[in-house]
Order: sequence, then C-alpha cells, then structure tokens
Amino acid sequence: MEISDAQNKIKEFDEARGWESSWNLKDLLLNITEEVGEFWNLIKWVDEEKQRRIIEEKKDDASDFIGDTLFLLLKIANQTKVDASQALQDTLEEYEKRMPPEIMKKLKHANKNAGGWDNKNGS
Ligand SMILES: [Mg+2]
Repeated sequence: MEISDAQNKIKEFDEARGWESSWNLKDLLLNITEEVGEFWNLIKWVDEEKQRRIIEEKKDDASDFIGDTLFLLLKIANQTKVDASQALQDTLEEYEKRMPPEIMKKLKHANKNAGGWDNKNGS
C-alpha cells in the first residue's frame, strides 16, 4: 500500500466513525510514546545481539509496533493536513544531502557528538 493510499484509508476510517473533526493531537503524540514504550519493553537493557534475537522471536510484536505507530502518524498527518508521502520524500532528500554514503560508510553514523559527521547546515 502506498503511503498516500494509507493516509486516505485512515481518513475514511475516521470519517466512517464520525471522528474526522475530533482534534486530539496531544493524545495522539502521547499514544506514540506509549507504543514506543511497549516496544522498548521487549528489548530494554540488553545488548544489540540479544535485541536481534528477541526481535527474531517476537516479529509479531515488531509488526504491531510498526503498524500501530504508522497508523497514529498518519492520523496526525490528516489532522495537521500534511501530505505524509511528500513529508517522507522531503526528509529523505534532506538526509541524502546531510549524510552522503561515501562519508557515512567510513564514520558509521552522523552524530557529531560521537565523532560522526552531519552536513545539517550545508557546511
Ligand atoms: Mg501497540
């Protein structure tokens, strides 16, 4: 399913329930943090290798997290009248400029505080 189709489907989902005018951005944002917390609970305080093993065993939980969180994000996109597909495209284009592959392959990440590199301000 394309992102724009998913966004429209969620709009129809809300309209069918009379929820299209209920503005609850704060609660939707808090709901995302709840989903993050649920997912984090699966893997907290273990090293990366153990995290991988846990997620291999609990792939359904990972799928639930992705589905629930995307649903909430697309509801937020509808409430704020943002084209989610365009927003993602804009973000990817920005990241392409900020984090060129030839530099990222050497440094592994873009966190300047940890010795990485990020062309955020076009320097
Ligand atoms: Mg959930």
